[in-house]
Amino acid sequence: MRTPDSATATHCPYCALQCGMNLRPLPGGAGVVVEERADFPVNRGALCGKGRTAPAVLSSRVRLTGPLVRTHATGRLEPATWEEALDAVAEGLARTGRTHGPDAVGVFGGGGLTNEKAYALGKFARVALRTSQIDYNGRFCMSSAAAAHQRAFGLDRGLPFPLEDVPRTGCVILVGSNPAETMPPALRYFTELQANGGTLIVVDPRRTRTADQADLHLAPRPGTDLALALGLLHLVVAEGRTDEEFIAGRTTGWPQARAAAMAHWPELVERITGVPVPKLREAVALFCDPASAMVLTARGPEQQSKGTDTVGAWINLCLATGRAGRPLSGYGCLTGQGNGQGGREHGQKADQLPGYRKLTDPAARAHVAEVWGVDPESLPGPGRSAYELLDALGTEVKALLLMGSNPVVSAPRAAHVEERIRSLDFLAVADVVLSETAALADVVLPVTQWAEETGTTTSLEGRVLLRRRALTPPPGVRTDLDVLHDLATRLGTGKGFPTDPEEVFEELRRASAGGPADYSGISYARIEAENGVFWPCPDEDHAGTPRLFLDRFATEDGRARFAPVTHREAGEVPDAEYPLLLTTGRVVAQYQSGAQTRRVDELNAAAPGPFVELHPRLATRIGAVEGAPLAVVSRRGRAVAPARITDTIRADTVFMPFHWPGEGRANTLTNPALDPVSRMPEFKVCAVRVEPA
Ligand code: SF4
Repeated sequence: MRTPDSATATHCPYCALQCGMNLRPLPGGAGVVVEERADFPVNRGALCGKGRTAPAVLSSRVRLTGPLVRTHATGRLEPATWEEALDAVAEGLARTGRTHGPDAVGVFGGGGLTNEKAYALGKFARVALRTSQIDYNGRFCMSSAAAAHQRAFGLDRGLPFPLEDVPRTGCVILVGSNPAETMPPALRYFTELQANGGTLIVVDPRRTRTADQADLHLAPRPGTDLALALGLLHLVVAEGRTDEEFIAGRTTGWPQARAAAMAHWPELVERITGVPVPKLREAVALFCDPASAMVLTARGPEQQSKGTDTVGAWINLCLATGRAGRPLSGYGCLTGQGNGQGGREHGQKADQLPGYRKLTDPAARAHVAEVWGVDPESLPGPGRSAYELLDALGTEVKALLLMGSNPVVSAPRAAHVEERIRSLDFLAVADVVLSETAALADVVLPVTQWAEETGTTTSLEGRVLLRRRALTPPPGVRTDLDVLHDLATRLGTGKGFPTDPEEVFEELRRASAGGPADYSGISYARIEAENGVFWPCPDEDHAGTPRLFLDRFATEDGRARFAPVTHREAGEVPDAEYPLLLTTGRVVAQYQSGAQTRRVDELNAAAPGPFVELHPRLATRIGAVEGAPLAVVSRRGRAVAPARITDTIRADTVFMPFHWPGEGRANTLTNPALDPVSRMPEFKVCAVRVEPA
């Protein structure tokens, strides 16, 4: 959409808040600058430093502007033509498939890819490559919340209500979420909540900037959020605060969930979590006294080897108190990546087809196969989840096409993943810069960036948005859709891979029709006219669905399902050799693996490198000095970063941000213990020891 003064209205390339912004062209074709876009209701013009500086990556001198191919002669990546590079990729993938079978070829996508790209990538894997081996880095983001959502409500949309409901509820429990650092413009919803007389409870082992603002901060030992939720539910029952009418009329499974909670009496929960019983009681009162309340989770409870059950425990709390499926109440997940929501709906997840359909459902296979013009029998079945796929590289999976992801920095047990990637027969990476993963590739394909292409994303609210092309890309780059079309053509199936994003979206609409994430009533024109449309939206006369579950849940019987979850420890607990816990997270000036934000001077000045946060008591015990290098050692490796001593963290826990490669790479340490349902790795807790380096 062009604004009257010729700026282009679009959205930020980074997180799932998908802030609206205007891009104004600079004179002489010298790029664009970001300007406030007050008409988009979610951020009302506010941006964090990442969004404000996003154009810097467009003009960065380190962005890729031509393909690179690794030559036999030098062993180095050398400039090549697009024809040479695409031929090499098609040949590398086809040769592997011919020699070892289609499942020896893997595809790895990203939660930052637009809906059109995610859709085309899933189709490319299953139709052009005939491989089941596709997954994406969103598996590392919110898959546990998605699985718990599906299990409880029969449908997964991160927030089943718009953010505008948050200030009008009575209480929000924010679990393992730090929007002050991860999505600062969202903080105003919680500030407004408090200004309206509502209360904010933050659950986090660290007293983050968000926790500082809370009315109540609960700081459990990492990995014990599930026990905490069970303890709160125990008190809800003991104090007679359950909503029996809601439980009887709109849920199933309460007796089992109730019995599980009653086995977690408050003193036991205090011993497990470290949260004192009086604070548990205070939280129950704050949550139950008002007429409405919400629980919002983020990566803290989700990135655990019991992430699905942990989120399930918080959903149980909502259900038992009648705080779900009602106005201004409910459970929601604050999704992280820019298109983390849409990225999981349209087919780049190992077990899913477009429209959030199950790959194992015969009716879903038949519907999507018809849209794709292929035999349903030809569609592969489910493949490996993200970490399992990365772990299989070099053995069962011998060639990989990777788009929009940097697992050398962002995957758990990253040194092992890096070794697996290095052992591949063939690696092709499409990216905008030479990320740490792209640097290992046989072929690197330089692709356009967010402001140089058009496409849709689906925000954490389930609001489908349109990013508009605002400037002409450099001559040496192509879009991801171009790349998939050109590769499919070389593999003999190019006809089904259009390069026009709107054409892809029209096909996506048909493929999603009738599915859980039904986009069939959404068009580019509607998104522009209405500033976004909430799915499901089954036809063009449908207004979209900002609020889900008000009449019934999306399960077969319309009732929400309690999960009979019980506490269990994390994959690793402290012992004599590794006596501390490590938790990882983000800082405000960097995003994910830092592939883009580490290329922005202003952001680097604000957050130049990793650090190890530790409590003064722990620092004294081990002789750590502020700013001096500290080694953090887990069963998987060793990372070194300067000490940052602060009393805002538990004394039994250290924290590292995960945005950097090299010796300070936090994910060298993290544990790939997987949740049995979501296959989420346990990024948020592992056992470590810390010593001066
Ligand atoms: Fe971009 Fe997220 Fe920052 Fe908004 S909060 S400007 S979407 S990174």
